[in-house]
Amino acid sequence: MSGNEWQVEHRYLDLPERFYTRVHPTPLRGARLVCFNHTLADQMGFSTRDQDEWAQVGAGAELLEGMEPVAMKYTGHQFGAYNPDLGDGRGLLLWETIGPDGRRWDWHLKGAGQTPYSRFGDGRAVLRSTIREYLCSEAMAGLGIATTRALFMTAASDPVQRETVETAATLMRVTPSHIRFGHFEFASYHLGAGAVKTLLDHVISLHFPELEELPEQERYLRWLETVAQRTARLIADWQAVGFCHGVMNSDNMSILGETFDYGPFAFLDDFNAGYICNRTDQGGRYAYNRQPQIGFTNCQYLANALLPIMDEDALRRSLRHYETAYNERFMRNMRDKLGLLMAQEDDLQLVMDTFNLLHQHSVDYTGFFRALSHLHSRGPSPIRDLFVERETADSWLEAYQQRLEREEQSAEDREQAMLSVNPKFILRNYLAQQIIDAAKNEDYQPMQDLLKVLAKPFDEWTEFEHLAAPPPDSGKGLALSCSS
Ligand code: AMP
Ligand code: MG
Ligand code: MG
Repeated sequence: MSGNEWQVEHRYLDLPERFYTRVHPTPLRGARLVCFNHTLADQMGFSTRDQDEWAQVGAGAELLEGMEPVAMKYTGHQFGAYNPDLGDGRGLLLWETIGPDGRRWDWHLKGAGQTPYSRFGDGRAVLRSTIREYLCSEAMAGLGIATTRALFMTAASDPVQRETVETAATLMRVTPSHIRFGHFEFASYHLGAGAVKTLLDHVISLHFPELEELPEQERYLRWLETVAQRTARLIADWQAVGFCHGVMNSDNMSILGETFDYGPFAFLDDFNAGYICNRTDQGGRYAYNRQPQIGFTNCQYLANALLPIMDEDALRRSLRHYETAYNERFMRNMRDKLGLLMAQEDDLQLVMDTFNLLHQHSVDYTGFFRALSHLHSRGPSPIRDLFVERETADSWLEAYQQRLEREEQSAEDREQAMLSVNPKFILRNYLAQQIIDAAKNEDYQPMQDLLKVLAKPFDEWTEFEHLAAPPPDSGKGLALSCSS
């Protein structure tokens, strides 16, 4: 691999050995590269010339010099119940690279085979779910929402048994850190105070260096405060774009506040406040409108894990930052979506009225805000057309127009601003399904096209108009299971 501008490290190995197990990937046969993220590779500082070599790395058949694969140990709360038996069951952390911009990247090969933490799993990932994760991480990045990234993915000829026999695939997932809330829960409940402190010092020194100068207790508190704030802001971003994660277990919560572990996720098509995208979540614990509360519960799990090294009252105080950060970010997002520059007291009411309207009339969430962005140049008809009875939109529109009269921004400027925050394109489940069906026939062009559009979802892309369409009735409200 010549011409690379990266520096290689593996600082995770600095942690005590109980935080991981060294495991070699179990190679897959007949691997081919499905997709390679050239833009990201450039940013990470390496050459993408030898694609075949990457396919071999993706297949787990080859390791580059310096890669030392480990399965990370963590635990976590799944659907509210503590599970001590978790850890990387099918993914391996290979190494860390530091790019020309000084940014650190963990390389994690998902689908690399069994590990000591696989429980009953086969250590594999299937083509369908790997494509979904690839598409969604890049869609989130395009929307400006914090997320892990997809560097490349491979498909192999090995069969994998799920409900039916499927194709094996792997994803090279990259992010500055794969450390989860669940790592802290593991350290706290199984190793003790010393390990919690070691882990926290490690995380702060690598990922929160701005806190390092503070005295110890203050440093730890500011860290928890920061993680709570980032988590809150992330979820406010999800709510504003209509994203449902589906499996917000504490082992799927990143300490960086990134969207992490794409499973049965969904973007809302028709707005439904209580939408449950995960077929296995019968109680609706992770329904769309419960995500903000669940984010807080997860921060409480994290705070509990810090109890051995921190004062309980202080922990509780830090967590209060969650709600403040959530409310601030959510209102800012919604004002942006509505084109409101000035904060007014009744804005929250307007936002609630908007959600109620969309919910009652099952209106396409993304389509509504995109049509609203064009109100000045295209008039109210495209908005009214989203409602079965057009008049139902009129009283809302009237109230909205009245609110706009209090704004000082010109209508032209407002339209531009709204078009830059209300995406035309989101990763709708029915589209993901079309991409998967094509990929099963080894046609990867539809995936390339969709990725191109999702990287700039606020642009018009008139040649890809069909990718902005709401689903046909048969493609609405698809709920997926965790099986992946
Ligand atoms: P998730 O529901 O995706 O967050 O996964 C929960 C746990 O199950 C994690 O520890 C995963 O590593 C593990 N896991 C999921 N699928 C598999 C699989 N096919 N083989 C082994 N472990 C798995
Ligand atoms: Mg997970
Ligand atoms: Mg998962």
